[in-house]
Amino acid sequence: MPDPKLKSVRKTLQNSKANTRRRAVPVRTAYSQAEREEIFRRFSIQRPEPRGELAHTNPFTLVVAVALSAQATDAGVNKATRALFKVADTPQKMLALGEERLRDYIRTIGLYRNKAKNVMALSQMLVDEFGGEVPNKREELVRLPGVGRKTANVVLSMAFGQATMAVDTHIFRIANRIKLAPGKTPDEVEDRLMKVIPGHYLYHAHHWLILHGRYTCKARRPECERCVIADLCKSPEKSCDVPAPLVELPPQVIGEAVE
Ligand code: SF4
Repeated sequence: MPDPKLKSVRKTLQNSKANTRRRAVPVRTAYSQAEREEIFRRFSIQRPEPRGELAHTNPFTLVVAVALSAQATDAGVNKATRALFKVADTPQKMLALGEERLRDYIRTIGLYRNKAKNVMALSQMLVDEFGGEVPNKREELVRLPGVGRKTANVVLSMAFGQATMAVDTHIFRIANRIKLAPGKTPDEVEDRLMKVIPGHYLYHAHHWLILHGRYTCKARRPECERCVIADLCKSPEKSCDVPAPLVELPPQVIGEAVE
């Protein structure tokens, strides 16, 4: 029998997480509307159907993979979940597996003890409160243990086809580095990107920016000579202003992300 006091504390925390009010931020970008249109037009030619690189088989395994990916690489998570999702691809199967065996599957991932706790708790909540299904509303998703705004955005986009902007380390860096949507916090950057990216490109923009950051506009040394927006880019860090040839890139191989 769960302790009613603990239950009420958990409820209060969950409600405050869901109800956190976000102040609207003013639009700020170094690019004209025509330039932004052109940037995303080029990304759309390079990668017409960009996809996230976390391997998953359904909304539940996506939630678990994203929850495991905090401060870990997609490649590291994919390596661990390949075997895990064969035995536990629903909340019910995850509960049957149990926390101890789950830990064995994910012990190569950083913070795995805490993450295992969260995965068990979120599986329990999905069974108890959502009929075993992953909800498709942000305010319900963020009530799940270990699921914050960023994870909810990824799930809404990848599992339910909603245009969201989950600001990860790559997107935060690019938005500030090239002054597309500068901001001090991921929330500020998210709000600005949602305003400055042309609406018809918004759905794929999240993946275009992540992939651009992961493979070209890298953290340590951006590879500007391989960049298709080098002529438009307004970063003081850029080392070249001749754009790379605009061609469609080979299809992504999901499950083998490099970073
Ligand atoms: S030109 Fe360089 S700094 Fe600018 S977006 Fe491209 S890779 Fe990044």
